[in-house]
Amino acid sequence: MDNAARLQYLQAMGIDVWVPRTGVPVESVAGFQVGEAIFENESKETDWVGFQEQVDICQKCSLHQSAKQKVFAEGNVQADWMLIGDAPGQDEELEGKPFAGQVGLLLSEMIRALGLQRDEVYITNIVKCRPVDDKQLKVEEMATCYDYLQQQIAWVNPRIIIVFGRVAAQKLLKTQDSLSKLRGVTHYLESIPLVVVYHPAYLLRKLLEKRKAWQDLQSAITIYQEKHE
Ligand code: URA
Repeated sequence: MDNAARLQYLQAMGIDVWVPRTGVPVESVAGFQVGEAIFENESKETDWVGFQEQVDICQKCSLHQSAKQKVFAEGNVQADWMLIGDAPGQDEELEGKPFAGQVGLLLSEMIRALGLQRDEVYITNIVKCRPVDDKQLKVEEMATCYDYLQQQIAWVNPRIIIVFGRVAAQKLLKTQDSLSKLRGVTHYLESIPLVVVYHPAYLLRKLLEKRKAWQDLQSAITIYQEKHE
């Protein structure tokens, strides 16, 4: 089915179809390339439906064997704010959306602390399949799935990125530094400011660290406002 027909079907079913913020071609947005290896796209315009379909059938690493469904993303593809975690767990796999369950409730609170609602941001993970037994992600699993994340960043082209937790932060920033070293600093992914915040799952266990996380969210607001006012 071609893209136009697919969009017509989705619209007839009452499903919102987002279009890119500016409609710009996406070859070099945020410095990321739209590579053939990631997603073949004749028009070079964003095709979120086709992209997600491609991820849904992905078998590039062994995680697909145990995954009940892929967890692609949630939210607004035109968002200024992109939020990135590491991997879906059981709740996310059941619901098919990132940050569900108790962790998701805390994430929603953190989003409210940014002055936003969940549907105003774009949320995804480094990997789209639940790791077997929720074990820590292997380097090769993250590497295999990373192309998809790069494509998402390029297409959303956010104005700021928040990364939750050590695993995702180390992967995105290509470092082995500890989270305590990575938080409290403005990083850049290409030209996009990136702020590292404690993972909500960690904050559920370490309530006393919430204060630092909320400080980091406040800093993110300041960084965003300074850049865009
Ligand atoms: N932890 C994450 O990093 N992502 C999720 O989607 C859920 C838990």
